[in-house]
Parts: sequence; structure tokens; C-alpha cells
Amino acid sequence: MSNTLYIIIIIAIASIFLAAYLVLRKQYEKKLRVILKNVNQLRKTHFLKADEDDLAPDVVGEINQSLREWEEEHTKEYEKLKNMDSYRKEFLGNVSHELKTPLFAVEGYIHTLLDGGIDDDEVNIVYLQKASKSLDRLTSIVNDLESISRMEAGEMIIDWRTFNLNDLIRDVIEAHELRALEKRIVLTTSIPEDKQIYVYADKERIRQVLDNLMVNSIKYGRENGNTDISVSETDADYIVHIKDDGIGIDEKHLPRLFERFYRVDKHRSRSEGGTGLGLAIVKHIIESHQQRITVQSKYSEGSVFSFSVKKST
Ligand code: ADP
Repeated sequence: MSNTLYIIIIIAIASIFLAAYLVLRKQYEKKLRVILKNVNQLRKTHFLKADEDDLAPDVVGEINQSLREWEEEHTKEYEKLKNMDSYRKEFLGNVSHELKTPLFAVEGYIHTLLDGGIDDDEVNIVYLQKASKSLDRLTSIVNDLESISRMEAGEMIIDWRTFNLNDLIRDVIEAHELRALEKRIVLTTSIPEDKQIYVYADKERIRQVLDNLMVNSIKYGRENGNTDISVSETDADYIVHIKDDGIGIDEKHLPRLFERFYRVDKHRSRSEGGTGLGLAIVKHIIESHQQRITVQSKYSEGSVFSFSVKKST
């Protein structure tokens, strides 16, 4: 055989190999492309706009990248679900614990009355009054739980309107004067009576915020103390400050204060009729107005809770 023939055979074999390689590569890339498309569709984030001929130069690298991103997304999702699950378990534990205390108390009073206490004039009325107080407590816990679960389910509808915050603050002060008097606490405001403070918010929700903060300032206030409401302003918002000179809060508790069921002194909170949900509700309301609430406090000196409300334009 001549040299020319050898060269022709080598070129022919090389061409067959090259052609086979190109055909196989195209077929594999097509298959890999389908895999990539399926992965991306499963991730439901990246849909391919390309048709099957539009092959990525590095389809294997792209599959790798997509799988890595997918794994990251799943890890995050998994962590989120795990946190939600432990949050749910903790919440259920807290709820049942909170409900059990007044329920057991009612049970105890009723059994004692049934076992003969009803005929004992020394205790019958007292026990009925105590049972009734525990039932009131159960009602407030259930009401607060209902509010909070509605808020957390995103069912809170904000009834936006313009109103004079000064009038609302004066209403709230008046509504709590009797309760404050029991502890000889004076409720004051440094806001001039004729000052117009027009805000844009849900009036009844802001009333609920003021109510809760005012009740707390009395519950955790001291005899002969004072709660004062004042207002400052920024360009866009008014900031309401509720300042008391009560028991105050140690700094270490402040970061968790707005969590549900978080209490500094469980015993004192319960004996004051607290549910441990008041500040969590307040925070939800303020945040659903896209505003902020903060607290400054010094143990045994007092606390200031401040929240912002949008100015009416
Ligand atoms: P509670 O129903 O227990 O009052 P809150 O959510 O309203 O629940 O408040 C959480 C905790 O924050 C209270 O148990 C109390 O320890 C503390 N706290 C709230 N407001 C004040 C305040 N003005 N002064 C001192 N402590 C307060």
C-alpha cells in the first residue's frame, strides 16, 4: 500500500471518530439539557426559555450549579420549617400552661364549694369571687390569643384614617384614671390641650396600643407614682412616649420583652392579671402600620415605651 492510501485511511478513521464524537456529544448534551430543564422546573425558579438546540456551552457545569443552588434553597427551607416547628411546640406548651393555672383554680374552688363549702358563709362568696376572677383571666387569655393568632395569620385589616391623636390620648388617660387611683398613680400628659396632632393610622388599633402600654405602666408602677404621655416628632412621624416611674426592667430582659409570653416576673404578672401577650400584640399592631416601637428602662427607676405613628399629610 502506498503512503497516500495510509493517509487516506487515517483521515477516514479520524473523520469517523470525529463525526461519532460530535453526534454523541450532541445527543448527550440534549439529554443533559432535559435533565437541567427538569431540575430547574422542580426548583420552580428557573425556567428555560431556550429550545433544545440552544445548548449551554457548559451544560454539566450549569447542572452542577443548579443542583448546588437547589440544595442551598432546601437547606434554608428545612431550617425555617424546623424553627417554625419548635416555635409551634413552644407556643402550644405556653398556651396550655397559661390556661391550666386559672382552670385548676376554678376546679379547686368549685370542688371545695360542692364538698360542703357552699353552706359555709365564711367562704362561699369568697370562693365564688375567686372562681369568677380566674374565669375572667381565662377569658382575657383566650381573647389575647385570638387577637394574636389573627394578626399572625395576616388577617389584621388596618382601617386607615386621619384623626387627632391628642384627643385619643386624653380619652385613654380618662379611661384608666380609676384603675390608676387604686395605686394612687397620677396619669398626666405634657401635650397642650389645644394641640392638633393629626395622624394617619387605625384609630382603634392605636387605642389598643395605648391601652396596653397604659395598663402596664399602672401594673408595674409604684404606689404614688406617675405615668406621663408626651409626643415628639420627626419629619414624617409623631412619636408617642409613655413614661412611668415604676419597677423598671433589667437591661438583660429588654431584647425579649416583646416576645409572646415573655415576662420578667411571672408571679407579679399573673397576680396583676397579665397574660404575657400584651406587648406582643402591641408590636404586631405597630409593625402592621410599618412603624417602630422601642423601650428604654432602668431597673427600679422606671420605663419609657415609645412608638411612632405616621403624620397625616
Ligand atoms: P403581661 O400580661 O405579663 O403584662 P406584657 O406582654 O404586657 O405581658 O409585658 C411583658 C412583660 O414586660 C411583663 O410581664 C413585665 O414583666 C414587663 N413589663 C411590661 N411593661 C412594663 C413596665 N411599664 N414596667 C416594668 N415592666 C414592664
